[in-house]
Amino acid sequence: MTSEKGPLTGDATLRRRIEPWEFDVFFDPRELRKEACLLYEIKWGTSHKIWRNSSKNTTNHVEVNFIEKFIAERHFCPSISCSITWFLSWSPCWECSKAIREFLSQHPNMTLVIYVARLFQHMDQQNRQGLRDLINSGVTIQIMTVSEYCYCWRNFVNYPPREETHWPKYQPFWMMLYALELHCIILSLPPCLKISRRRQKQLTLFRLTLQNCHYQTIPPHILLATGLIQPSVTWR
Ligand SMILES: [Zn+2]
Repeated sequence: MTSEKGPLTGDATLRRRIEPWEFDVFFDPRELRKEACLLYEIKWGTSHKIWRNSSKNTTNHVEVNFIEKFIAERHFCPSISCSITWFLSWSPCWECSKAIREFLSQHPNMTLVIYVARLFQHMDQQNRQGLRDLINSGVTIQIMTVSEYCYCWRNFVNYPPREETHWPKYQPFWMMLYALELHCIILSLPPCLKISRRRQKQLTLFRLTLQNCHYQTIPPHILLATGLIQPSVTWR
């Protein structure tokens, strides 16, 4: 169903929505924008109400800002369960991963699901270990797919009237590259995705380099889904 007026009418979350251009520049999987954006939703107990908001990094990373804000603002009964979902433009760095684990260990009735548009400095061993530690502590981490882009557009973006279905249609290929690399991280394999920047030409090169260990360990359907006939792609 297409909305005639966009998300304006009767939408209490309007002031907390981000603009379409912000969504595009922050969440485009091909862009390496330095700043990070977090779209999040919180659900308490069996309530159907969902609290949604957005945050950007300040002097702190967005994850730390979320934790500090949550602790400062929320006075809740620890026995009530709490489900949190994050849509992050960059995956957490190792320091944020540590802060998230500490936060969750203090709130045992809390679950956290994280969707990320891109993997932050994914060649860094500490960052890779940080993500593994998060997953091992019960956090779900996935790369955003088309359905998450659609969901975020409808629920977090101040899209123009009649453009409810006009979320940025990035090729699933870009998401698959990151999904493959996330598999490598989870399975403690060496990186298979290398991203380099050519500043002079404003180019970003995404190169997929698969070794025997990748072919032997990563489920074949995941390898096939990336379309390995195209192992190297240049964006702009
Ligand atoms: Zn961080």
